[in-house]
Amino acid sequence: MNFDFSPRERELARLGRAFADEVLVPLEEATDRHGELPMELRAGVRQAVRDWGLAGINHGREHGGMGLTMVEQTVIEEQLGRVTNGLWSCVWRPPVSLKSGTPEQIETYLLPSIHGERRGAFAISEPDAGSDPRRVQTAARQRDGVWYLTGDKWFVTSYNASDFIIVHAHVDGDPDKPTLFLVDKPAAGMTHRRSPAFMHNFAFDHAELRFDDAPVPANRMLGEVGQGFEMTKDWFVEARLQIASHAVGAATRAAELANDYAANRHAFDRPIRDFQSIEFMLADMAVELFAAKSMLYRVAWEIDSGADRKTIHARASALKLYCSEAAGRIVDKAVQIFGGRGYMRENPVERLYRDIRVDRIWEGTSEIQRVVVGSQIRKRGMGVYTETAI
Ligand SMILES: Cc1cc2nc3c(=O)[nH]c(=O)nc-3n(C[C@H](O)[C@H](O)[C@H](O)COP(=O)(O)OP(=O)(O)OC[C@H]3O[C@@H](n4cnc5c(N)ncnc54)[C@H](O)[C@@H]3O)c2cc1C
Repeated sequence: MNFDFSPRERELARLGRAFADEVLVPLEEATDRHGELPMELRAGVRQAVRDWGLAGINHGREHGGMGLTMVEQTVIEEQLGRVTNGLWSCVWRPPVSLKSGTPEQIETYLLPSIHGERRGAFAISEPDAGSDPRRVQTAARQRDGVWYLTGDKWFVTSYNASDFIIVHAHVDGDPDKPTLFLVDKPAAGMTHRRSPAFMHNFAFDHAELRFDDAPVPANRMLGEVGQGFEMTKDWFVEARLQIASHAVGAATRAAELANDYAANRHAFDRPIRDFQSIEFMLADMAVELFAAKSMLYRVAWEIDSGADRKTIHARASALKLYCSEAAGRIVDKAVQIFGGRGYMRENPVERLYRDIRVDRIWEGTSEIQRVVVGSQIRKRGMGVYTETAI
């Protein structure tokens, strides 16, 4: 077994760290105060992503992407995860489902998205459908060769940074026909209801949209009728790995800041790290990070090594569950070590505390990840997770 990072992986991790420190960290406080990344700063950040060679991190060279392995993507994403306010999302990751488009869709949506000239938001969730996408009510009905979408979509992340939406709808209202549609903005029949405030102040908004018989040309269906869920599942694996990477990056930054603070903050004539209660917190933080990172790189490596889809699915759920929950525990301890200063918005650990809470909710809640892990164990045995060399 070789656990060494290659020179290329180290170089990419340094690139990710430098980009985070030099371009994104300086935007953190303005983003937090403003509620999202101010509009006037967005074009500059987009250009910086291109200038730093970070465009198309999750796509192959054949489409103009960086052509990275999953481990290579992960070393970058981990560093981006250190930044607060979801500013990591400035480094776009066009949905992998766009690769399944027609040559014309690839030309019109995927290639410009990789170059950062276009951006797509993903709209699956609805007022009455989150964990259970079969409850999606948005229906697509065809008349005279045109699709018409009707329904509500909630939590559409990056709507105000996007110029198209990938909408998950049920053809004829039939949950056995989940299908994806590419909807260009602005769209007739599509209304932006509102973009409510959330616990975190994220780089971009999370919008609520209403579709009222919104016409979508037949050539804007992505894949075929009924393929929507399979395509979304592929996106989930990638998104879960990305969340795990960010959670690890966020928790590492919080742990490092808390460790430095504990060495320098004095109480009762000694550095607070000399109190065993503080040292034990730092020890638990380090051990959880060690476990989370080990899991993260193992799953990324397994994807690169061609492990089968079911195994990857099973492990991506366990990974997202563990890393997001561990990050919650680690950042909470960091806030505690900082005392009152940990509760101040100007302190990155306070912002990280708000930011990482959603990692236990989006792209499948912790409960849903446990459902996946549990059903894998039931079907395939504990070995899915506990395999030994025997
Ligand atoms: C900031 C943010 C950004 C988001 N961005 C997007 C986006 O871009 N696009 C998009 O489509 N969606 C997005 N979402 C939606 C997100 O994916 C959903 O919130 C998530 O899937 C949970 O769905 P829900 O909120 O409807 O909760 P529900 O599904 O209603 O769940 C409520 C509670 O019940 C539990 N529960 C549900 N089913 C089970 C079960 N079988 N077993 C045990 N417990 C269960 C859940 O774990 C949870 O605790 C975003 C959400 C947030 C908060």
